[in-house]
Amino acid sequence: MDRWALKTVVNVVNLSTPLGLMIAVAGRSRLRWGPRGLVLASDYRLPVPTAPAFTVGNVVVSRRPSEFLDSRPALLAHEERHSWQYVFCLGLPMLPLYALGAAWSYVRGGDVGVHNPFERLAGLADGGYPLVSARERRRLSPSPSPSRQQHPRPARPAAP
Ligand SMILES: [Zn+2]
Repeated sequence: MDRWALKTVVNVVNLSTPLGLMIAVAGRSRLRWGPRGLVLASDYRLPVPTAPAFTVGNVVVSRRPSEFLDSRPALLAHEERHSWQYVFCLGLPMLPLYALGAAWSYVRGGDVGVHNPFERLAGLADGGYPLVSARERRRLSPSPSPSRQQHPRPARPAAP
């Protein structure tokens, strides 16, 4: 059995893929098979999460049309790495662990991705995350004049 086939079975048994399918259906997504046992759910319509793509089990959900993931192999590879993280976290415990990682990242750097171990292991650049935390970016940017103070918007990363 291929590694990805084993992952597909494990993520069904650990209930992460069934949860991902339920979320995709609740969001009225279009479902299709992707590479290596992934299920690609496009046109997701629920307002949360706000990320352009996220993964639950083997299901990669995007609020964009199907061409979005097809034309972004690096992002799909990033999301596929998250599907492996569900295997190693034994399924659903990945969700609170991911939330802890996001909280840790926020405390450490002012954003939910750069110091989140799950995002770092999945590849920050592939997921569309900046490589430097929001706090560090603010520190490195030239200080604005008091009359035109600007606050850089945080990047909109792809969530798990
Ligand atoms: Zn990610």
